[in-house]
Amino acid sequence: MASWRYDISGISPEMRRDYELHFVECAHCSARQKFHRSLDVTLAVLTSLSALFFLFALAVLKHIRPLEHVAFKILGLDIFDMYHMMVSAGIAGLCFSLIAMALVLMATPAPSYLGGIAAERAKLIEEHLPAAIRSLRPR
Ligand SMILES: [Zn+2]
Repeated sequence: MASWRYDISGISPEMRRDYELHFVECAHCSARQKFHRSLDVTLAVLTSLSALFFLFALAVLKHIRPLEHVAFKILGLDIFDMYHMMVSAGIAGLCFSLIAMALVLMATPAPSYLGGIAAERAKLIEEHLPAAIRSLRPR
C-alpha cells in the first residue's frame, strides 16, 4: 500500500471497504493516509492563497496606476516599463497559481475530502439536535 497515495475516494465500494478495514487495523497506513490528505489540503490552500496574492498585487498595481503618470514625467520611461513588467508578472503569477490550484484539485482527493468533513460535521450537528427539532424535520 504505497503507490496509490492512500487515496481511497476513487475506488470501488467493495475494495474501499477492505481498505477502510485495513486503516482501522493498521496504524502505520492510517497515519500515512492522514498525512497525505493533510498534504493535499495544504497544497490546495497554498495555491489558492497564492492566486489571491497575485489578484491582490494586480489590484494594488491598478490602484497606483494614476501615480504612474507622475512618475513617468519625473523619472522617464523606466517606471513605465517597470509597471508593465509588474503587471505582466502579476498576470503570469495569477495564471500559474490558478493552473496549479486546478491541478491540485484534480490530482488529489482534497475536494471530496473536504466535502466528507463537511458531511461529517452536518451529521454530528444533526445528532446533537434535540429530538423535538429532529421530529419536525421531514425525513
Ligand atoms: Zn498497512
